[in-house]
Amino acid sequence: MAQQRLIPELDAEKLRENALTSIRLGVEDFERCLRQPDEGGDPARALSAIRNLFAGVLLLFKYKIATCVDDPADAATLIFMPPEVLPQSDGARGVEWLPVGKFKPTTIDVATIQKRFEAFDIEVDWDVINKLQKCRNHLEHLHPANTLGEVADFVAELFPVLRDFIQTQLQEPPAEILAEAWQIMLLHHKFFVDTSRQCKLAWNDAGVPKGMEPWLDECQCEECASSLLMPSQDSLDLGELVEHNDDRFRYACLACGHGGLIGPLMVEALNKAHDYDPRDGEEPCVENCYQCDHGTFVIYEQACLWCAAELDYTECSMCDEALGQDDQENGGLCSYHAYTFEKAMRD
Ligand SMILES: [Zn+2]
Ligand SMILES: [Zn+2]
Ligand SMILES: [Zn+2]
Repeated sequence: MAQQRLIPELDAEKLRENALTSIRLGVEDFERCLRQPDEGGDPARALSAIRNLFAGVLLLFKYKIATCVDDPADAATLIFMPPEVLPQSDGARGVEWLPVGKFKPTTIDVATIQKRFEAFDIEVDWDVINKLQKCRNHLEHLHPANTLGEVADFVAELFPVLRDFIQTQLQEPPAEILAEAWQIMLLHHKFFVDTSRQCKLAWNDAGVPKGMEPWLDECQCEECASSLLMPSQDSLDLGELVEHNDDRFRYACLACGHGGLIGPLMVEALNKAHDYDPRDGEEPCVENCYQCDHGTFVIYEQACLWCAAELDYTECSMCDEALGQDDQENGGLCSYHAYTFEKAMRD
C-alpha cells in the first residue's frame, strides 16, 4: 500500500528492550548519585538518572500502545507523530479534512501518548506522570548538587506507577524484567514511604497552624529539594511552636542534613502555588494578614491560613460584592457604596 511507505518502520520488541535498558541505566545513575564521593558517588548523575528513568517510562508506554494492534504498520501509525490534518476545499463549496505531509520520523510526545491511552482504554495515573515531567524539566535548569533530594523523591513516586503499569498493562512480574534495578527501587520506595510517615508524625507536636498543614507537605529542603523534612530536635526541646516562633523554629532535612526556618518555607509554598501575573490583568489571591502579619491571607477564602482570622463583613449589604480586609472599616459596605453613602450624608 502506498500509505505504508510513508510511515517509518517500527520494531515493538526493540521499544521494549530500550525501555528496560533505559530504566536500568536510570536506577544505576540514581544509586551512583546518592552514594558518598569516596564510595564512587557522583552527584552529577542525578540529572541523567531522571532523564533515563523518564525516557524509559515513556518508551514502555509506547511499547504498550504498539502492542494494542496486530499489524506492525498499524502500530507504526500509533507511535510516530502523525501528519497534520488540515481543511481543504472540495471544489464544490464544501470542505474536506486531509492529512498533509508524511508521518514524522519522531515518535509521539507525552500529550499524544495520553491521547492514545484514552483511545485504547489504557489507564495510568497521569497526575503523577505530569508531575514527574514537570520535575524533569525543572531539574534541567539546576545544579546537580541541588537536586539530589528531589531525585530521591522522583524515584520514590515513580515506583508505584511503574509497578502498577508493568503488572496490569504488560502483565509481567516487574521483579523479573527489571531484575536488580527493581530491588533498588523497591527498597528506596519503602524507605521513602516509612521516613515520610515519620516526618509527618513528628510535625504533629510542632504547633503547625491547622490551615498551613497542606503547605507543610509542599515544603522542600532549600539545599537539596528533598521533601523529607523533620522538625529540628532543638526547636522541639526548647518547646518552640511553629505558630508562635516561626522566626526560630527550624527544620532538619533527612536527605542532606541542611536546616532552615520552616515558617517562611510554608508561606513561600502557599504563595508559589497562588502565583499570578499582573501583566495578564490577574489579581493576587494571597496577601498579608492584618492580624498576624503573615503572607497567608487567602483573599477568595476571606480567611488567614496562619491565624485563622476571618472578616467581620464578608459581602456588601447593598450589592453583595465580596469584601476584603481593606473594606472592614466601611461597616459592611464595598468601597463604592461606602463612598456614595458618605456623599449622600454630606449633601
Ligand atoms: Zn536537603
Ligand atoms: Zn493571620
Ligand atoms: Zn456595594
